[in-house]
Amino acid sequence: RPRIGVLALQGDVREHLTALRSVGADAIPVRRESELADLDGLVIPGGESTTIVKLAQHFDLLEPLRKRISDGLPTYGSCAGMILLADRIVGGAVDQETFGGIDMTVRRNAFGRQIESFEEPVNVEGVAGGPVTAVFIRAPWVEDVGGGAEVLARVTSGPAAGRVVGIRQGHLLATSFHPELTGDARVHGYFVDMVRNVLGKSAEVPTTKSED
Ligand code: GLN
Repeated sequence: RPRIGVLALQGDVREHLTALRSVGADAIPVRRESELADLDGLVIPGGESTTIVKLAQHFDLLEPLRKRISDGLPTYGSCAGMILLADRIVGGAVDQETFGGIDMTVRRNAFGRQIESFEEPVNVEGVAGGPVTAVFIRAPWVEDVGGGAEVLARVTSGPAAGRVVGIRQGHLLATSFHPELTGDARVHGYFVDMVRNVLGKSAEVPTTKSED
């Protein structure tokens, strides 16, 4: 069973643990640097991205997290987690830090006052079985997608139609919305498959050089 940590500094940690367990992962809350060492994957929950960064700094987790993420640890961020995986953010304090990793610009609180929270069916590329119910809560959107990133989901209706709300770059996945709040764990299943893929690949690497 893949061992997946949920960054447990602030936010909806418990819901992610439940969703991950329902798709066959060993899910554990993570608060210390030492707990990062033996993870196969990491989830950064929704919450308040500024608070999560401040707590990560306080617990000396910011640099270790950046390093693990850039070294290839499969990581999924929902909502605030998406903001934290962005290389660039707009709509927040100018000096707001992120963990980074996905070549994108994310706008915080992008949907504006009138539609702070809403839900909508959204098709997610690679997630079979029809659209997922996407729950948006003071959600960000992806304003600009860099070369290495692949768009997985867009808003389909309303004034924000076409906005990017799901994205993947290699071992990194992010959604503007909160699948952990719906009881539908298909997005978590997609992420756990990503983790299994990485585990499968590292198992294939030969320990000794074969003759060729
Ligand atoms: N608005 C929050 C932020 O900027 C994100 C909201 C959420 O995670 N539901 O961090």
